[in-house]
Amino acid sequence: MGSLQKIMDQVVKRNPGEPEFHQAVAEVLESLEVVAEKHPEWVKAGVFDRIVEPERQIIFRVPWVDDNGNVHVNRGFRIQFNSAIGPYKGGLRLHPSVNASILKFLGFEQIFKNSLTGLPIGGGKGGSDFDPKGKSDNEVMRFCQSFMTELSKHIGADTDVPAGDIGTGAREIGYMYGQYKRLRNEYTGVLTGKGLTWGGSLVRTEATGYGLCYFMDEALKAKGKSFKGTTVVVSGSGNVAIYATEKVHQLGGKVVALSDSNGYIYDPEGIKLDTVKQLKEVERKRISEYVNIHKNAIYTEGCSGIWSIKCDIALPCATQNEIDGKSAELLVKNGCYAVGEGANMPSTPEAVHIYLNNKIIYGPAKAANAGGVATSALEMSQNSMRYSWTFEEVDAKLKDIMVNIYRNASAAAKEYGMEDNLVAGANIAGFLKVATAMYAHGIAY
Ligand code: NDP
Repeated sequence: MGSLQKIMDQVVKRNPGEPEFHQAVAEVLESLEVVAEKHPEWVKAGVFDRIVEPERQIIFRVPWVDDNGNVHVNRGFRIQFNSAIGPYKGGLRLHPSVNASILKFLGFEQIFKNSLTGLPIGGGKGGSDFDPKGKSDNEVMRFCQSFMTELSKHIGADTDVPAGDIGTGAREIGYMYGQYKRLRNEYTGVLTGKGLTWGGSLVRTEATGYGLCYFMDEALKAKGKSFKGTTVVVSGSGNVAIYATEKVHQLGGKVVALSDSNGYIYDPEGIKLDTVKQLKEVERKRISEYVNIHKNAIYTEGCSGIWSIKCDIALPCATQNEIDGKSAELLVKNGCYAVGEGANMPSTPEAVHIYLNNKIIYGPAKAANAGGVATSALEMSQNSMRYSWTFEEVDAKLKDIMVNIYRNASAAAKEYGMEDNLVAGANIAGFLKVATAMYAHGIAY
């Protein structure tokens, strides 16, 4: 890194013990060196120094009572990272691994991702170290209500509009929305990912997975390829993985593997998505159960082995840093020529270097998985209008947005002398809009 190294050093010093946050900032600053050279006025106005510091970080106690009357205390967070181009927007993650580092990395990435969508949304992220797994519905409800009791003081339809993420699905959004409404006595679009009968948008459930495939389809087309006839490996078996699989199948590809945090399934004839939806969305069971229903499929304990399966295209849709250098090398060795990130930061920096060195068609998360938040912004628009668009209308808008994200990232990469490097292209294209707004707004003394 060149002139922005000083800012990186300050980030490390000011945020000790936050490796995920450091990783995310380093990747972005590295891409922005060329922008800093072109825009000395932004350097002088401290735009780069300011963008790495969250506008506000809220950390709070979340007490709740389990079904046996025992009191538990979790920690809640909301990182309001940047509101230069719109209200803070980003998901709420409920997972035992949640901490400030992970939420700051996610909130930081969200700034650029949201900007790339072309819609007026700032960047934020939140959540808690609460684990919904193994809890009863009533326990989840009590946790969500307690969480929202505090969070409601800091959010609003024009201030900060959270959404779902890992561990926060339709059930959790429902409990949180109910509590917000109870406390504030208002029916506004304060959360997205809502149910269809109470302000939700069609396509929101499918959006991240579908959007990932629309983005990759465009990237493949630019290289004279398509999903048709390809073998695809998808990791995870949650919201993003399920709908990425559905769209791959619609586009003529065949997904042969899925995983969860315990292990992965391999079905050489192609994953039967109806079974996966029943197991994961309805019964909340483990992916290993799939092989009890489809005897030709194989289950293997442990997650990383999924990247040893031969495929043309890999779509990591589970969690951060799930593909390390070794797994990336295996993918390349086995002939994989495209990687599209459904999850946030699923590839380590070593893995990304391997993709770029091997000319893999690589769709980085902040561009490739922006379909979820884009559709969330479309949900906000519909809430403001008190109106709903049809499935086809929202899907067509989503597709347009993803195609544009690809084109803008690709054009920015070319303009700044890094043709085909969509990591740099996405960082630059996302940054330009936010930096222009931050510069225009001046500095508050
Ligand atoms: P879900 O909670 O619905 O699913 C996550 C899936 O990943 C589960 O199957 C989970 O398994 C699995 N998983 C978790 N850790 C691992 C691991 N170490 N190895 C293999 N599998 C693992 O979350 P989403 O599908 O919503 O989110 C997935 C990713 O996509 C996250 O990175 C999220 O931030 C990102 N994302 C999501 C968006 C959305 O709209 N939902 C939007 C943009 C990004 P298990 O059940 O065992 O935990």
